[in-house]
Amino acid sequence: MDRPSRAEQVVDGPVHKAMLLDQRQSGELRRNHMGVQVIAAGEVLDTDVRPGQRAPDELLDLGDIGIPPLILGLLAQHWVKRSFEEGSKVRTHSGLTGAQVCRRLLESGGLNVGVESIGGQLTDHYDPRAKVMRLSEPVGNSSSVAAVAVAAHETGHAFQDAKGEFSFRLRTAMVPAVNFASNAWVMVLFLGIFARSVGLIQVAVALFAAVVAFSLVTLPVEIGASRRAMSMLTAQGILVPDEVPVARKVLTAAAFTYVVAALSSIYQLVLLYLSTRD
Ligand SMILES: [Zn+2]
Repeated sequence: MDRPSRAEQVVDGPVHKAMLLDQRQSGELRRNHMGVQVIAAGEVLDTDVRPGQRAPDELLDLGDIGIPPLILGLLAQHWVKRSFEEGSKVRTHSGLTGAQVCRRLLESGGLNVGVESIGGQLTDHYDPRAKVMRLSEPVGNSSSVAAVAVAAHETGHAFQDAKGEFSFRLRTAMVPAVNFASNAWVMVLFLGIFARSVGLIQVAVALFAAVVAFSLVTLPVEIGASRRAMSMLTAQGILVPDEVPVARKVLTAAAFTYVVAALSSIYQLVLLYLSTRD
């Protein structure tokens, strides 16, 4: 039960989480792509296509509209991977590992948060329920600028939690509902189409709107954690001036994936809404 939920794992870390988010998002995109096609198919079922109306194959083309966010998502993922790899090649002058940086920052803020290791690559996250930071081996045991940046970002989340920041509390509170909504909306949509129930389709749109709201609430949380990370790393002299731009690049790329995810979800919501209005 103490394991972080899928959504928490998805949203808690910068680079890795961004990648996971990206994976999840591309899943959503695929599902949405499918959803749009189903809506189109539903329209075919619902309307006896009269001369001059959109032909079934035109309706099915609606699905292709899901492709621009998919491409943007892949580009963002590529950028985050590349900047993390670059940052991993640069060793910090301090020689501190990600885990040591975490402990030092937590101590400096008087936070009683544990630091543990977790398997996998870039599975790093802060668990607000257990008050524990879990760092992957390549981050916790590495003294690269990228590792230190990711570790400091996670520590930023622990500070957001300790200070009771509104956006962080809101996002944490939304996780169970969003977990449900992100899985349920497609099923409800299917049901609505096959039952020809406008009400159910509207429920599906509302469920997807909750997923969109979550992606928007995630933005200030993620950007805030990275800002805090950078200011702590420089204020405490953990990074020397030469290393700052490298760390910033890693965190900026990670933040960009969240921006792309939010924009894509808004775009998809608008599409979904418009395609249910006919
Ligand atoms: Zn984060």
